[in-house]
Amino acid sequence: MDLELTPEQQMARDTARDFAAREVLPRAADIDRRHAFPGDLIGKLGALGMMGVAVPQAWGGAGMDTVAYVLALEEISRACAATGVIMSVNNSLVCGPIATHGTDAQKRAWLPDLASGRKLGCFALSEPESGSDAGALRTSARQAGDAGWILNGTKNFVTNGPVADVVLLLASTDATAGAKGISAFIVDARNPGLKFGPPDDKLGIRGAPCAQLFLTDAQVPSEAMLGAPGFGYKLALGALDGGRIGIAAQALGIARAAFEDATQYALERKTFGQPIARHQAIEFKLADMSTEIDAARLMIWRAATKKDQGGRYTTEAAMAKLLASEVANRVAKEAVQVFGGYGYLTDFPVERHFRDAKITEIYEGTSEIQRLVIARGVLGA
Ligand SMILES: Cc1cc2nc3c(=O)[nH]c(=O)nc-3n(C[C@H](O)[C@H](O)[C@H](O)COP(=O)(O)OP(=O)(O)OC[C@H]3O[C@@H](n4cnc5c(N)ncnc54)[C@H](O)[C@@H]3O)c2cc1C
Repeated sequence: MDLELTPEQQMARDTARDFAAREVLPRAADIDRRHAFPGDLIGKLGALGMMGVAVPQAWGGAGMDTVAYVLALEEISRACAATGVIMSVNNSLVCGPIATHGTDAQKRAWLPDLASGRKLGCFALSEPESGSDAGALRTSARQAGDAGWILNGTKNFVTNGPVADVVLLLASTDATAGAKGISAFIVDARNPGLKFGPPDDKLGIRGAPCAQLFLTDAQVPSEAMLGAPGFGYKLALGALDGGRIGIAAQALGIARAAFEDATQYALERKTFGQPIARHQAIEFKLADMSTEIDAARLMIWRAATKKDQGGRYTTEAAMAKLLASEVANRVAKEAVQVFGGYGYLTDFPVERHFRDAKITEIYEGTSEIQRLVIARGVLGA
């Protein structure tokens, strides 16, 4: 693995870093406080190529690699974790599977708009009674002759859902076949059979709207199916492998934000006649944070590189997500401690990082599920 970034990867990182500092960071506290979807920022990210970083240029994307993607996502998430996850879902869970498994007609219909930020995608796999056990989903797709498919069911926690233009949705086309009977569909969010519930009221990433999705006799054409019938579960797991690298990068951005804020504060705040950064208890905290952040970044780069090389990267992606999300939570918790009482107030962004960090241990597979995936990889099961 080459730790020297290519000029293109450096450009992706620098472009994202500059945009994040100028346009995203100054808005982050307000986005969080008002639970405000940053639609204008998403449009601008699209114009910069950030909403379809790895989508081939032929389909309107930036045509870069996964390493460039994680570099950009770390920078955006460092400024605002909510904006980071909106970008991550669109890139990893919607553009990725369409670019990999779509027909030319499907790519033509969706990718240029999704990759440019003119449209936004969401991914609907989880349901009220199936999250970790995604293969147990109940949403059904019934064939309706030449008319295509009729979808019924309820999806949970759909990030971007209330503001999305397109839903990548998993439903069972053969209830007798279990996970092998699940198929994927690309559904226009304006379909009259789709209705989103009110946005979920969340602990963190409050600018990224998330809601239940109700499907009531939603009719979609045959061409809406993505991949072959029965391929949906595999497609979803593949999308989540890539998605986990993205969430790891989001977690890394949150960890960096907490660490950088804590370091600056520790150099300014004085107790007992010296900056708290000079007390060993605090400087050791900063040393541990910095070490763990670097370790997480290396694992993310390794997983991204493996993905770019075209081989299997399921275990590496799960390891990167597990470590980065746990690092984000440890670092954010210690950063609040460095701020003392001020860390507990909403006046400083560190309490937001603390709240934002938690979700990275839950979505796109909980830490328990990552350990399960890693154990399977290690044990060869
Ligand atoms: C803010 C937010 C955004 C989300 N966005 C999306 C989205 O865009 N699209 C989407 O499809 N989903 C989304 N999700 C859903 C998310 O992926 C699930 O919440 C997650 O996978 C866990 O599923 P669950 O909530 O049903 O928990 P459960 O699966 O019920 O798990 C409960 C607990 O049991 C543990 N557990 C379960 N099974 C095992 C096992 N075999 N071994 C050990 N421990 C186990 C879990 O780790 C967890 O601690 C989102 C969730 C949230 C909160």
